[in-house]
Amino acid sequence: MSTTDRSKFPLVVIVGSGFGGLEVARRLENKPVEVLMLDKHNYHTFQPLLYQVALGSLESESIAFSLRKNFGGQANLNFRIAEVHKVNAEKNTIDTTIGEIAYDYLVIATGSTTNFFGDKDIEHYAMPMKSIPEALNLRYLIFQNLEAAVLKKIKEEREPYLTFVLVGAGPTGVELAGAIAEFRNYVMEKDYPELKKDHVKIYLADFQPRVLATMSEQASKAAGDYLRKLGVELLLNAKVERYDGNEIEFEGGKVIKTKNVIWSAGVMGVIPGGINKDVIERGNRIRTDNICRVVGFDNIFAIGDVGAMITDKTPKGHPGVAQVAIQMGDNVGKNIIHIIKGETTEPFKYNDKGSLATIGRNKAVADLGKVKFQGFFAWLIWIFVHLFSLLGTRNKFIVFLNWMANYVNYNGGSRLIIRRFVRGDVKNNAEEVTKGDA
Ligand SMILES: Cc1cc2nc3c(=O)[nH]c(=O)nc-3n(C[C@H](O)[C@H](O)[C@H](O)COP(=O)(O)OP(=O)(O)OC[C@H]3O[C@@H](n4cnc5c(N)ncnc54)[C@H](O)[C@@H]3O)c2cc1C
Repeated sequence: MSTTDRSKFPLVVIVGSGFGGLEVARRLENKPVEVLMLDKHNYHTFQPLLYQVALGSLESESIAFSLRKNFGGQANLNFRIAEVHKVNAEKNTIDTTIGEIAYDYLVIATGSTTNFFGDKDIEHYAMPMKSIPEALNLRYLIFQNLEAAVLKKIKEEREPYLTFVLVGAGPTGVELAGAIAEFRNYVMEKDYPELKKDHVKIYLADFQPRVLATMSEQASKAAGDYLRKLGVELLLNAKVERYDGNEIEFEGGKVIKTKNVIWSAGVMGVIPGGINKDVIERGNRIRTDNICRVVGFDNIFAIGDVGAMITDKTPKGHPGVAQVAIQMGDNVGKNIIHIIKGETTEPFKYNDKGSLATIGRNKAVADLGKVKFQGFFAWLIWIFVHLFSLLGTRNKFIVFLNWMANYVNYNGGSRLIIRRFVRGDVKNNAEEVTKGDA
């Protein structure tokens, strides 16, 4: 079956409309190709702000953007909601939830998911935060546990509901820890007068010796200081041994009683079936050549978090960040046209624009090449970069207003529990979240 009219132009099928997939589509606008964009959702997710959805300070719609709206004006593009299960490279087709689809060029831009490193208990009980449904589940869990804490009169019974352990001190863990700490310090007692700040404990754990290990030492140190000032306890060089929904244990025997473990300790690529195991690298990423073309294939590309361009300079592939996905998308879009026209292709060259992470409402750390700085000015840059990168003028406006309101009164956001989070209730919790009892 074909879901789009095959014209005289070659058909480029893009799987995944994250940062990478969207950029490929943009590059192919007004070019001599037909484009079919497939995604299992009908919206693009701006993952860097998921943590604010989880804390209820932003509504989920303000960090998502309708794909049909986005592509409304692109005459050579059709969009379909479909999940791709398998690539049949020998016959240039893919198996999807809407049937078999033929392609001339295939771009795999399916991103990554949380890596629990094979620990089934941790996968079952800890909370991931890679998608909007997962961020909402986390929000509901946090606020349900605060409601439960209010009902517990005995300190020992109440504590696990008010103890937060974030595993993984990369940007996601650091930003979420800062946001939970600010909620505890400035908001919680307004919503929950029965609870006191010092009832709530927040731990940020990592097996590395410093937070933000992929950023400079200077950024790590400043971020660590900011977090400590906010009242976050850092557990560094700490490897998680087990979590059973009530207790988390670290190597060496340290045990913390908690109902709130948030897991951002690793990611792995999301690869549709049918890809030869020989080209799957560490972290479940697909090995490509220097134009993001899957090794061994002429017409299949893998970009962004799911691609691994292994070179002397990048022995583990490029970092899993939005800029890599965007720049790879740009490169692939251009090269598909070069290939069609019989022109020389352009090798991918990553232009690292630097890294930012925010801690709380007015502090951030910035590594912009050789220039490294921290504090309020870094936070202003963080605000500007994130607003600029969000899709949709309405979203930019709403997010900006929310941030300003929050800045002025420390109490922005609604923190609503729209549906109850129940572990294991797949129907209610969202398709990709399958957990046991709350
Ligand atoms: C909480 C969080 C915070 C982050 N913060 C930052 C940050 O501050 N700065 C930064 O640079 N990066 C950040 N990142 C990383 C960044 O978001 C990713 O590197 C980037 O999204 C990768 O883009 P991508 O196009 O490869 O995949 P994604 O953006 O993940 O998009 C993948 C798309 O593929 C779709 N899909 C997946 N499988 C299928 C399938 N089988 N069939 C159909 N569709 C499918 C998904 O629905 C999704 O739309 C963050 C990530 C997270 C989770």
